[in-house]
This record gives sequence, C-alpha cells and structure tokens, in this order.
Amino acid sequence: MKAATPEEKRDAIDSFADYLEPTLEVVGRSELERWAECPMQASLIESGKEGPLPGFVDAGELCHQALGTAIQTWIDFNASIGPQGIREALEQSLRGTRPDLQPQVIAAARASIWNFSHFLAGINPVNILKFDGGHERQSGQLAMDIPTAGVRYAGEVDFLWSGPVRGVLQLEDWKSGWRFFRGYDVYQSFQFQSYACLILDNYEKIDAVEVRVWNTRHGTKTYPVLFERRHLDQYMSRIYSALQVRYENRENPKPTPTEEKCSRCRVALHCPASGEIGDAMKDPKAHLRRLIVLQAAIKQELKLLKAVEKQSGPIELETGERFASEHKSKPKAQLIVPKGGKKVEEENDDDSDEGSEG
Ligand code: SF4
Repeated sequence: MKAATPEEKRDAIDSFADYLEPTLEVVGRSELERWAECPMQASLIESGKEGPLPGFVDAGELCHQALGTAIQTWIDFNASIGPQGIREALEQSLRGTRPDLQPQVIAAARASIWNFSHFLAGINPVNILKFDGGHERQSGQLAMDIPTAGVRYAGEVDFLWSGPVRGVLQLEDWKSGWRFFRGYDVYQSFQFQSYACLILDNYEKIDAVEVRVWNTRHGTKTYPVLFERRHLDQYMSRIYSALQVRYENRENPKPTPTEEKCSRCRVALHCPASGEIGDAMKDPKAHLRRLIVLQAAIKQELKLLKAVEKQSGPIELETGERFASEHKSKPKAQLIVPKGGKKVEEENDDDSDEGSEG
C-alpha cells in the first residue's frame, strides 16, 4: 500500500472539524406526562386543539406567582421581615393580581397564608436554592440531558431548599386546585418522580429529595415523601418508557381512553375515539371505550354552552330545545326539551388540580 505524502497528511489534518454536539430536543415534564397518559391527548394539545384554558388554570398560575413574589420579598429583605412581613407581602400580591380572577386567586391560597408565612420565616434565605419566580440561578427551571433519546428533559419546581438533614434536599410543591393530594399520590406521581430525577441529576452529592405537597386551597400539606438516589433507575425507567411512547406515537397517535383520564381531558371534543363506530356485538369493549370518550365530550360541550349562556343568555333552537339557567335562586345551566324530555345538566368540575403544577 502506498504511504500518504506529507501534503496529503497535512490536508487530512486541515480538514479535521470539531466534534458536533448533538442537538437535543427540549421536552417539558408536563408535555411528556401527557404522552405517557394518552398519546392522542398529547398530540391534539400540541396541534393547538385545546382552545383557551379555563379560568381556574390561570388562577392557579397567578397563585403560584404570588407565592413566588413572597419568597423573593423574603430574600430581598434578607429575612428581616418575619412571618408578619411575609404574610403582608403575600396578601398584597394576591390582592394585586388580575382583577377578573382576583377572588379565585385569593380563594386558592387563603387557607395556607398563615402556615406558609411561618414556614418560610423559618428558612434562612441562603438555603433557598430554586423557586418558581426566582431569577437566574434561583429560577425553578431544571434540566437534564438524555442523549440516547436526543432529548433535554426539563421541569420547573416550586420551591427547593436545603434543610437540616445533610444529603437531603427539600422540595415543596403548591397545588391550588380542588383535588386533595396525599402522600401516596406524591409517591406514585410521574411529576414528582421526574422532579426527583432532575434534582438528583443536578445535585450530584445529594442522596435523596424529600417532597411535600401543599394543598393551598385546603390549608394542609402531605407528609414528606422521600425519593432516594438508590431508586433512581426506577424513576428514570418511567421517563424512558414515556419517551418511548412519545417516539412511537408521534406520527400516528393512539387514544387510550379510561374514565379517569377522559373525564379530565380538555380535548375530548376532538378525540377521534368518539367517532369509531363498529359492531357492538363483535367488539363491545371498543364501544365501551367510545362511551367513555363521548361522556367526556358531552361534559365539555355542556361547559362550553354554559359559558355562552352566561355571557349571551339562553340558546334556543327553532324546534324548541333551549339551553338556559332555569332557577334564579340556584342557576344551573341545562338543556331543556319542549315536552317531558330529560334535562341534561352541566356538572361542577371540582376535582381539577390544573394550574397547580410547578
Ligand atoms: S378523550 Fe380520552 S382517549 Fe381521547 S384524547 Fe382525551 S384522554 Fe385520550
């Protein structure tokens, strides 16, 4: 074999290019959780079918902002204002929020104002690591690279601080919805297992993360739930399998209806699973799944009509059917048929935890 000439060797060296960092796609925690829950729901939301979010989602977000402002005030005053000062900062922030949502925002936080103020007053600001609303290194954002999946996985925590136990970080999460969280919910949840992975990845010397969820509307919090580094593989494999579901379903997403998921789904009206008509005798399970989605879609339709009725008054068809609030003392929008027909009533949706995610 002929040896390379000095010129050829020099050309080869000149042509050397830097190693290219692979471009990682940023995938958010709530987005990935949706893929894990129902690929069709994730796909419909990503394609913009969700429409405007209900007011309680905005109220939850504003409640988080108010808590973040109180934490920032505590830091800015270098712990000199005490629980009363924190309380005043929080109340002022809640009162000064968007006027159309102010009563909802205050209702979402009121029961926890006192507990939160005393809790925060016990924390030295130097021990505050990250929080929702924090700036730069104290921002609540955390990310970890998963190059094998071509993904940078990201999430935002509500309040991360360094507590008295060496090697254990403390994570507080605010839930401002109606749903009541218990310790078991925390332990099982994709959200908190994900946060544990993100925190353990970013703080290498930490052995565990202790998590508490504050049910701010109810004025309670869960017992602490420990996520340990020795179980990291278990938490990570859940993220890997969610990424796998996302990868496999992006082109052709499948609906995976269950009553629990569909009843909370905000894109149920667009779900193709409600239109798959087959032979009920041959495939009764498919029809049961369809019924679940149809019920969720009806619930959403009633909500939409209720919003229209509240703004513009009763809706009436030429054939006599009306959608209106009948009783002035206890208005409840409902479908009213001309004669002896069954009324279809709008239900209260009081179990949402939306807007409470960090
Ligand atoms: S209605 Fe159910 S099956 Fe359809 S997208 Fe929503 S969660 Fe998925």
